[in-house]
Amino acid sequence: MKRFLLLAAAFCAAGSPAIAADAQREKFGALPDGRDVEAVVLTNEGGMKVRIIAYGAIVQELTAPGRDGPADVVLGYDGIEGYLEAPNYFGASVGRYANRIAKGSFTLDGKDYQLAINDGPNALHGGVQGFDKRLWTVAEVKSGKDNASVTFTLVSPDGEEGYPGTLSISATYTLSEANELTIDYRAATDAPTVVNLTNHSYFNLAGASSGVSVLDQVLTIPAESYTPVDATLIPTGEFRPVEGTAFDFRKPTRVGDRIRTGGDEQMRFGRGYDHNWVVSRAPVEGLQWLATMEDPASGRVMAIHSNQPGVQFYSGNFLNGTVTGKGGTIYRMGDALCLEPQIFPDTPNQPEFGSARLDPGEAYLNRMVFRFSVAD
Ligand code: BGC
Repeated sequence: MKRFLLLAAAFCAAGSPAIAADAQREKFGALPDGRDVEAVVLTNEGGMKVRIIAYGAIVQELTAPGRDGPADVVLGYDGIEGYLEAPNYFGASVGRYANRIAKGSFTLDGKDYQLAINDGPNALHGGVQGFDKRLWTVAEVKSGKDNASVTFTLVSPDGEEGYPGTLSISATYTLSEANELTIDYRAATDAPTVVNLTNHSYFNLAGASSGVSVLDQVLTIPAESYTPVDATLIPTGEFRPVEGTAFDFRKPTRVGDRIRTGGDEQMRFGRGYDHNWVVSRAPVEGLQWLATMEDPASGRVMAIHSNQPGVQFYSGNFLNGTVTGKGGTIYRMGDALCLEPQIFPDTPNQPEFGSARLDPGEAYLNRMVFRFSVAD
């Protein structure tokens, strides 16, 4: 005992341990069938805090510093009940195929596949019970000097929601001391399939409960073109230049400046922005810049880099005041926007969009980095 006390005293005298970024497991709640839902909380010395829950591998909280102090910048719920009752894909890991596949059907190696239809005539975000509604396994939790991380894993059986091949997925969330949150979605399959995994966080850089509209926040997307859609939000196959349209975000632009451009059919179809911006035609080695969002009032800036070619910018057009989120806040249109790094919607049916195919032996990776800073 004496020896232990001496050791402990020596340890304290040497200062705090070398671990700066910390990962802690906690209980978040339980599913109706009794299974526990764990959460992992990542913190760093830069004032960031990220809570990810094992249900849906959902980012439940993302607190980042601003001129006015810290604020939680993502929409979500205080408890598991909200995620079960009105999930809205808040913070969720979506798959097996993020966004839409026309009529939920595609052909692979001459065979036709029919997926679950859950959005008008189309398949959206992996189907009725996509990855956002599954309980993932907490596989690894790490703290360290430069970063802290958690890895969740999930197995999607052959035929689930109509997709071929057993898919083994991992989602690793890493918070660095440089105030970067990196999400790595990896997948491997035992038979040819299609994959598009992304994260569906709804951001408001003024704070999710601030009441400050994202229409007053500023967005930059370095894309020359976007993929216009039909009335059911399926891409027409065209790459349309952003030049001279409400879709030109190549220079920092207030989100609300052109969101009511009713003369543009595309804005009417989306009820605002709900489109894929084309930053490159195919995934890249390493990372490329996809978007920067900035809240002029708090100075909070979020830059997104990814190996993905596209970013779906969805201006939260279906938030209609029927949902009460964290801290008892009612979420309404304009309260948040999504920026989802991914391959293009409906790629399995669009010959010009490249490939969504994953074969056995190949490694799928969608790496996205959200870098937070505070403008002077
Ligand atoms: C889609 C929207 C859809 C939303 C659901 C977005 O990724 O682009 O059309 O309504 O997800 O939360």
